[in-house]
Amino acid sequence: MEGLVLVFDLDSTLIDSSDIIFQINTKWAAVESYIARSLNTTLVDKILRPAIQLRKSGKVSAILMLTNNMVDIYVDCIEYYIARYLGCLSERVFDYMMLRQDPMRDSRLINPPKRLKDIQNILEKIGKPTENLAARTFVFDDSPYHIIKNELKYAGYPSNYIQITGPTNVYMRGYGFVNRGYMAGRPDLTNYNPILMALTNTIEIRPRIPTITEYYKDIISI
Ligand SMILES: [Mg+2]
Repeated sequence: MEGLVLVFDLDSTLIDSSDIIFQINTKWAAVESYIARSLNTTLVDKILRPAIQLRKSGKVSAILMLTNNMVDIYVDCIEYYIARYLGCLSERVFDYMMLRQDPMRDSRLINPPKRLKDIQNILEKIGKPTENLAARTFVFDDSPYHIIKNELKYAGYPSNYIQITGPTNVYMRGYGFVNRGYMAGRPDLTNYNPILMALTNTIEIRPRIPTITEYYKDIISI
């Protein structure tokens, strides 16, 4: 059996990037202090740290970033900061980082969709197996609107989408009140139990076909 594939969103998940000026700041000291106070250390300590260890044994096949951020220098700085924070500078934290402008995505879109197909494309590119992909994939994202959330649900693995949850709701036109995700200095209230269990247990394959009502309900709400 192949190992788990962990997919991390960046903004409002791994880090609170709401102070956008730092994404284009070229002064490393300023960027560093911004990352230091904005990184979601709960997620990094609780999930990323053991995942990097478990990658050595093959229990975790790949650790990926899938983000619609496009500031590659900023994203590189964050990966470097996390590696230093975790004391693993000799290896890459992420096996692949797929940004908005990645040639495998549709660059015409400001917010290209996040799909299981993107994960498959990445794994093929880095030479990792893609079978039983939904069963093995865990996605960490503050947004509840990505296609991959429903794809995992329809495949029978709804709890493989880990919704990053902070204490703050914001109003979004057309959506009502939605959770703001991770915010710097605020507690991360995410339920990490499904991934914590997956990191200690064997992967369970249990394919499931959605009912027609479930299927159409989500198609209509998208
Ligand atoms: Mg996000």
